[in-house]
Amino acid sequence: MSYIKNTQQVFEKAHACSVTPQDKSGSYQVFSPSGAIYNVDISDPQRMTCDCPWGLHHSHSGCAHVVAAVMYSEKQKNRQVYAFNTVSAARMQHAPMFKLNGINLVSRRARVLA
Ligand SMILES: [Zn+2]
Repeated sequence: MSYIKNTQQVFEKAHACSVTPQDKSGSYQVFSPSGAIYNVDISDPQRMTCDCPWGLHHSHSGCAHVVAAVMYSEKQKNRQVYAFNTVSAARMQHAPMFKLNGINLVSRRARVLA
Protein backbone atom coordinates (compact mmCIF):
# COMPACT_ATOMS: atom_id res chain seq x y z
CA MET A 1 0.00 0.00 0.00
CA SER A 2 1.35 3.42 -0.77
CA TYR A 3 0.53 6.61 1.00
CA ILE A 4 0.36 10.22 0.05
CA LYS A 5 3.49 11.74 1.51
CA ASN A 6 2.55 15.35 1.98
CA THR A 7 -0.79 15.88 3.69
CA GLN A 8 -0.57 19.65 3.53
CA GLN A 9 0.16 19.57 -0.20
CA VAL A 10 -2.92 17.44 -0.85
CA PHE A 11 -5.01 19.73 1.32
CA GLU A 12 -3.83 22.80 -0.61
CA LYS A 13 -4.53 21.08 -3.94
CA ALA A 14 -8.02 20.27 -2.70
CA HIS A 15 -8.69 23.94 -1.95
CA ALA A 16 -7.78 24.80 -5.54
CA CYS A 17 -10.43 22.43 -6.97
CA SER A 18 -14.03 23.38 -7.58
CA VAL A 19 -16.82 20.95 -6.81
CA THR A 20 -20.25 20.36 -8.33
CA PRO A 21 -22.67 17.92 -6.68
CA GLN A 22 -24.24 15.39 -9.08
CA ASP A 23 -27.01 14.17 -6.82
CA LYS A 24 -27.97 14.02 -3.15
CA SER A 25 -26.26 10.69 -2.51
CA GLY A 26 -22.62 11.80 -2.52
CA SER A 27 -21.54 11.92 -6.16
CA TYR A 28 -19.52 14.93 -7.22
CA GLN A 29 -17.67 16.27 -10.21
CA VAL A 30 -14.39 17.80 -9.13
CA PHE A 31 -12.65 20.26 -11.43
CA SER A 32 -8.91 20.33 -10.98
CA PRO A 33 -6.98 23.54 -11.77
CA SER A 34 -5.24 21.53 -14.53
CA GLY A 35 -8.57 21.40 -16.38
CA ALA A 36 -9.24 17.74 -15.66
CA ILE A 37 -12.65 16.69 -14.37
CA TYR A 38 -12.92 13.73 -12.00
CA ASN A 39 -15.88 11.77 -10.71
CA VAL A 40 -15.83 11.39 -6.96
CA ASP A 41 -18.15 9.34 -4.79
CA ILE A 42 -18.15 9.83 -1.03
CA SER A 43 -21.52 8.21 -0.31
CA ASP A 44 -19.83 5.32 1.54
CA PRO A 45 -17.64 6.85 4.29
CA GLN A 46 -15.64 3.61 4.38
CA ARG A 47 -14.93 3.57 0.68
CA MET A 48 -14.63 6.95 -1.01
CA THR A 49 -13.63 6.74 -4.66
CA CYS A 50 -12.21 8.94 -7.41
CA ASP A 51 -11.46 8.13 -11.05
CA CYS A 52 -8.20 10.10 -11.20
CA PRO A 53 -5.04 8.04 -11.99
CA TRP A 54 -4.08 7.83 -8.30
CA GLY A 55 -7.59 7.15 -7.08
CA LEU A 56 -8.15 4.31 -9.55
CA HIS A 57 -5.26 2.40 -8.00
CA HIS A 58 -5.83 3.18 -4.35
CA SER A 59 -8.88 2.08 -2.45
CA HIS A 60 -10.54 4.64 -0.22
CA SER A 61 -8.62 7.34 -2.03
CA GLY A 62 -7.23 10.28 -0.09
CA CYS A 63 -6.51 12.22 -3.29
CA ALA A 64 -7.10 15.97 -3.45
CA HIS A 65 -10.38 15.39 -5.35
CA VAL A 66 -11.95 13.25 -2.64
CA VAL A 67 -10.73 15.74 -0.04
CA ALA A 68 -12.30 18.59 -2.07
CA ALA A 69 -15.64 16.74 -2.20
CA VAL A 70 -15.58 16.08 1.56
CA MET A 71 -14.79 19.75 2.23
CA TYR A 72 -17.70 20.78 -0.01
CA SER A 73 -20.11 18.35 1.61
CA GLU A 74 -19.12 19.39 5.14
CA LYS A 75 -19.37 23.07 4.23
CA GLN A 76 -23.06 22.52 3.38
CA LYS A 77 -23.48 21.44 7.02
CA ASN A 78 -21.64 24.56 8.21
CA ARG A 79 -18.61 22.46 9.09
CA GLN A 80 -14.98 23.01 8.27
CA VAL A 81 -12.43 20.30 7.44
CA TYR A 82 -8.89 20.08 8.77
CA ALA A 83 -6.19 17.64 7.62
CA PHE A 84 -3.76 15.60 9.71
CA ASN A 85 -0.88 13.29 8.84
CA THR A 86 -1.59 10.74 11.50
CA VAL A 87 -4.67 9.12 12.98
CA SER A 88 -3.48 9.93 16.50
CA ALA A 89 -3.13 13.64 15.70
CA ALA A 90 -6.62 13.64 14.17
CA ARG A 91 -8.10 11.79 17.17
CA MET A 92 -6.80 14.48 19.51
CA GLN A 93 -9.29 16.87 17.91
CA HIS A 94 -12.21 14.88 19.39
CA ALA A 95 -14.32 15.56 16.32
CA PRO A 96 -15.79 13.39 13.53
CA MET A 97 -13.01 11.89 11.39
CA PHE A 98 -12.61 10.72 7.82
CA LYS A 99 -9.73 8.27 7.61
CA LEU A 100 -8.60 8.19 4.00
CA ASN A 101 -5.69 6.51 2.30
CA GLY A 102 -2.78 8.70 3.41
CA ILE A 103 -4.70 11.62 4.88
CA ASN A 104 -6.93 12.02 7.92
CA LEU A 105 -9.65 14.65 7.88
CA VAL A 106 -11.46 16.06 10.87
CA SER A 107 -14.71 17.97 10.57
CA ARG A 108 -15.52 20.73 13.04
CA ARG A 109 -18.35 23.19 13.28
CA ALA A 110 -17.32 26.34 11.43
CA ARG A 111 -16.81 29.34 13.67
CA VAL A 112 -19.19 32.16 12.97
CA LEU A 113 -17.54 35.54 13.34
CA ALA A 114 -19.79 38.11 14.93
ZN1 LIG B 1 -8.68 11.91 -7.37
